[in-house]
Amino acid sequence: MIFLVATSNKDKVKEFQRILGPLGIEFKLASELGIELPDVEENGSTFIENAFIKARSGAEVSGYPTLADDSGICVDALGGRPGIYSARYSEDEAFARIDKNAANNAKMLRELGDTPLEKRTCHYTCAIACVFPDGREVSCEEYCYGHIGFKTIGSFGFGYDPLVLINVEAGAKTGAEPGKLTFGEIPPDIKDTVSHRSKALHKMAELLKDEI
Ligand code: IMP
Repeated sequence: MIFLVATSNKDKVKEFQRILGPLGIEFKLASELGIELPDVEENGSTFIENAFIKARSGAEVSGYPTLADDSGICVDALGGRPGIYSARYSEDEAFARIDKNAANNAKMLRELGDTPLEKRTCHYTCAIACVFPDGREVSCEEYCYGHIGFKTIGSFGFGYDPLVLINVEAGAKTGAEPGKLTFGEIPPDIKDTVSHRSKALHKMAELLKDEI
């Protein structure tokens, strides 16, 4: 059974395939199906809404069951920001045009200032939506908790990973001492065992078992 993944990110398709492939699903990029995905405005107010905007559009254009995800980081001391705006958190700054991730991390450190560690709690969120051409829809959302450190450390991962100190639960699974290592310091296959994205994909696998 073929499913479209409404993304241009090949790594995401590989991760979807790794975790959901055992259900007998083959995941494809739009380009592999000879389809061009229209640019959709991600103007939802939640991660789930944005994932559905992408999945509904993909299913409508392609005629295939379509999965889409939306993710980001929510920092409690910033009232949950940047949240759904995580990718474009620092877009108003000139430096962001040179290195978006570095600009995002620098802005986060600046905004948090000397907020003490215990108040720097954060969580990554990943929402996944699946839309079938017959109109059925399923979705789920998962989280990965941590603290924002005081400087970027490590070169693994992407985005905010060098800033996010691993929490107790994730630390226990990765073998890292909680609060001592950032996600930038652990290899991707270890991060995969605790990440918001892999947790959401496993949950989606459970949901899809009832649909296919
Ligand atoms: P997307 O929805 O997967 O494109 O993610 C949006 C943004 O959230 C990314 O550009 C990153 O800034 C941030 N983000 C999402 N997941 C992660 C993660 O696992 N590590 C670091 N940053 C992330």
